[in-house]
This record gives sequence, structure tokens and C-alpha cells, in this order.
Amino acid sequence: PAVPELEALQHADVAALLPVPGAESDKYRRGVVGIAAGSSRYPGAAVLAVAGALRGGAGAVRYVGPAGDAVLARFPETLVSDQGPKRAGRVQAWVVGPGAGDDAASVAEVLESDVPVLLDADGLRLADRDAVRGRGAPTLMTPHAGEAAALLGVAREEVEGARLASVRELAARYGATVLLKGSTTLVADPDVGSPVRVNATGTPWLATAGSGDVLSGLTGSLLAAGLGARDAGSVGAYLHGLAGRFAADGAPVGAYEVAEAVPGAWRDVR
Ligand code: AMP
Ligand code: MG
Repeated sequence: PAVPELEALQHADVAALLPVPGAESDKYRRGVVGIAAGSSRYPGAAVLAVAGALRGGAGAVRYVGPAGDAVLARFPETLVSDQGPKRAGRVQAWVVGPGAGDDAASVAEVLESDVPVLLDADGLRLADRDAVRGRGAPTLMTPHAGEAAALLGVAREEVEGARLASVRELAARYGATVLLKGSTTLVADPDVGSPVRVNATGTPWLATAGSGDVLSGLTGSLLAAGLGARDAGSVGAYLHGLAGRFAADGAPVGAYEVAEAVPGAWRDVR
């Protein structure tokens, strides 16, 4: 039988994929997430990505970049350094890009690592396509329509009018898993034989500054816990959408509150 073009995860699918720690678990087994994000201009993006990772279940977060003070003020449990990703110590997945400005060196260093990498925001713009294609470990790219359009060299409206074809095309060009954000989220593997995952748990209240930064950290924690890029992306989008719904509850909400609602989304799914 023909493979369906789209599939959607249900509560039970997500529950089965959640990385719940076992009795013998420790913080390393739960997953250490490295976050290279934020800048002197956008320190808040770093705080929100770290928030997403910690509330998404990371055993520990290593933050690398110039916003360490802002991150520590909110999350004293973060391991902070400013020596660049290569000297940050061992991590099980990297998140690179939110609010990162023009820090191309960090993006290049992270792409040279042998662990899964999530590229978002500035990280998408700064990533060398051949460096992504040549990676031995999974790469997950998380553009919104505007970022996807820039990568494809087309107008934003073109992506919005052909979201499925666009996410497939990006995955093929980069040899990476691509999560296309929007009112629904699509997750495509480069392997054209596997259906694109669609997520519709979100709410228009998620259309708020910093919302995507939370998603990147949350999804990074799932990569660090050992989920594949396709599962991490679709479970991340599912929990993020649900957290947005719970936090907003029919009224405006900020990105930080969305991160704080992730454990509630998790409880709802289990
Ligand atoms: P970003 O554009 O990087 O801040 O990411 C925005 C986040 O909010 C993504 O996870 C989107 O999928 C989500 N989002 C934005 N607009 C909507 C919408 N109208 N309905 C549901 N989710 C949305
Ligand atoms: Mg964004």
C-alpha cells in the first residue's frame, strides 16, 4: 500500500516516546543539552531556550555565549561558559542559533560535533549547507516560513502556499530533518519514503516573541535524551503546542510562561 503523505501523533504515541527517567537514571542519562544562543543584543533568547530545555526534561544544560549572567539570574542550575562550544565539555545534543546574531564560529563548531544538532533562527542563516550535509549525527532545522523562504531563495508567500513541498525540499537540500513552524507544524525527514508529521496542538496565542526559542530548547532536550530528530521534532511541537494552550487558556501569554507550562503538558500526555 502507498505510504501516506502525512501522519499525526496522538496522545498515546507521544506518551510512549516521552523520556521518563528510570529508577537508575542520572543527569547524564537524562541528557545534557548544550545551548549556543543569545547575544548582548538578544540575551532573552538564551534564557528562553534554556527554559525550554530545563522544563523539557534535560538532566543538565550547558550554556555557551555572552548571555550567561541573564541565564544564571533565572536558572542558577545552568552550567555557563564563554569559551565556545568546543570547550564546553560533553553534551548529548546542541541547540544553536536563537538570538545568536552573527556568531558564525559557534555554528561551525557545533556542526563539527558528533552529536545531534538543532539549528534555529540565526543558526539557520549561518549554517554552511555542505557542513550540514556532511554531518555524521542527525541535524534538525526549525525554520518558520520566513526563514524557510530565505533558505530556499523564494518569497515567504511561496512557502506559505506550498508548505508540504517546501519542507520536503529543504530536507532534501540539506540532508537534514526539517521542522517547519506555523499554525500547524510539519516535520520532514530527508527520506522521502517516510510520511511528514503534522502537529496541530498549538494555539494562535503562541504567535508571540520568544515562542520559537522555547521550542528549540524543549526539542533539544528530547534530542539529548536520545529521541531521533523526527520524533524529537514532532514530540517537541506537540508538547509546545499543548503548553501554549494551557498557559494561554484563551488569553494572551508570554513565551516564558509557555516554557513553565511544559511540565503540565507532559503530565497531561502521560
Ligand atoms: P518563532 O516564529 O520562531 O517565534 O516560533 C513561533 C512558534 O509559535 C512556533 O512553534 C509556531 O509553530 C508557533 N505558532 C506561531 N503562530 C501560530 C499559530 N497561529 N497557531 C499555532 N502556533 C503558532
Ligand atoms: Mg524564531
